[in-house]
Amino acid sequence: PIRVRFAPSPTGMFHVGGARSALYNWALARQQDEGRFVLRIEDTDAARNKPEWTEGIIQALAWLGIGESDPHFEGPYFQSDYAGKHRESAERLYGQGRAYYCDCTREQVQARRDNPNLGYDGFCRDRGLEPGPGRALRFRVPEGGPTVVEDAIRGRVEFDHASIEDFVVARADGSPLFVLANVVDDVEMGITAVIRGEEHLSNTPKQQLLWQALDQAPPVWAHLPVIVNEKRQKLSKRRDKVALESYQEEGFLPEAMVNYLMLLGWAPGGDREIMPWAEMEPLFRIGDVNSAGAFFDEKKLRAFNGEYIRALEAGEFAERCRPWLSPEVAPWPEENFDEDAFRAVAPLAQSRVAVLSEIVPNVDFLFLDEPVDDPKSWSKAMKPETAGPMLAAARERLADPALAWEPEALRAELEAAGGGLGLKLGKAQAPVRVAVTGRTVGLPLFESLELLGRERTLLRIEAAQE
Ligand code: GLU
Repeated sequence: PIRVRFAPSPTGMFHVGGARSALYNWALARQQDEGRFVLRIEDTDAARNKPEWTEGIIQALAWLGIGESDPHFEGPYFQSDYAGKHRESAERLYGQGRAYYCDCTREQVQARRDNPNLGYDGFCRDRGLEPGPGRALRFRVPEGGPTVVEDAIRGRVEFDHASIEDFVVARADGSPLFVLANVVDDVEMGITAVIRGEEHLSNTPKQQLLWQALDQAPPVWAHLPVIVNEKRQKLSKRRDKVALESYQEEGFLPEAMVNYLMLLGWAPGGDREIMPWAEMEPLFRIGDVNSAGAFFDEKKLRAFNGEYIRALEAGEFAERCRPWLSPEVAPWPEENFDEDAFRAVAPLAQSRVAVLSEIVPNVDFLFLDEPVDDPKSWSKAMKPETAGPMLAAARERLADPALAWEPEALRAELEAAGGGLGLKLGKAQAPVRVAVTGRTVGLPLFESLELLGRERTLLRIEAAQE
């Protein structure tokens, strides 16, 4: 049975690229009854690790639907718990002559080379140094021939041994390097396929040599294409929005995110793109992943999200909006929030929001004491020639106590008020909308006025006239 792993280092926010790797691994593990997805936190870089990053990884995975409640999930394991195994393996490599001790300093190595880009020159290969202070352990890369990596996505990739230096596997203090610890853990955990980002491809020949030196058949390798922005630059923490958490905070639905991330390098076939995880999972094949850079198109992701939002059942949509309405974050005074009004307005907003956080500007007119004050909206909608007379006419008509306060009647009154001034309904509505909601765009106006009620509507129009 397949055993895959996801092996993040907890040194920062959880990246969308990591999320894609995790999902591809997850799909493969779930395709077989006995398939397993191992989560291994590679926490050996004590200076850069923080427990909150580990927590963030576990939460982000759970948000995507990957977690311990599923029998295909195993872990989390922590690399730091396996330090003994790493050391044992390093000693074994030394004992078998596959690795040797080296006391060269970086300066010495460089001084011996004309080209500073060339790696280690093998100076200590045959010196037979014993372990000791200041001595690092280097892997003895075989002399002739290449290492051929069979990549499930890229095919055959050859690495000439002449271009692989005798790399360090353990530092002078005995601590293992990433290349070694990562392999030893994969071996110990019985991993059968290593599916990870393309940036690791240069480690792979070294790691394949280590698997062989440890008498193990190497796993299936697959290196996923880089994710690029609209300028075809590799997504970067500093430049691009890469943290999964920021998408979560903005109100992307996990099911839309999962759907979109799966398409970064793979397609289910046919021309369907919107496809729920349950349908994608059995279709995913690692060999069908494309090796070309995958464009992370946030606009497309937003469009996907809007579709997923519109497909929610109305009550479910209202529930999903909760985090943005909570007293800690909502901009209105807590006591103003009215559950019934929210339930009534939510369906109007559902068809209009692309991300859940947009619920707030759509409904805040109901819960703020006064509508938001946006000078731009005012200057756009409140043209002095028309706004003054229009607000006056609207107020007069809407103040009629005999008027039924419902959308059709409100529409007729505003149409008539505008007509009297030679304004089409669209133009006539604009100042009224800004007066009551503070914005030039929003939910259908007449339904909004109905929910806001006669009294508040009139007060706001009056306030806007001043
Ligand atoms: N800890 C490594 C990383 O986060 C894992 C690489 C791998 O998947 O082998 O990049």
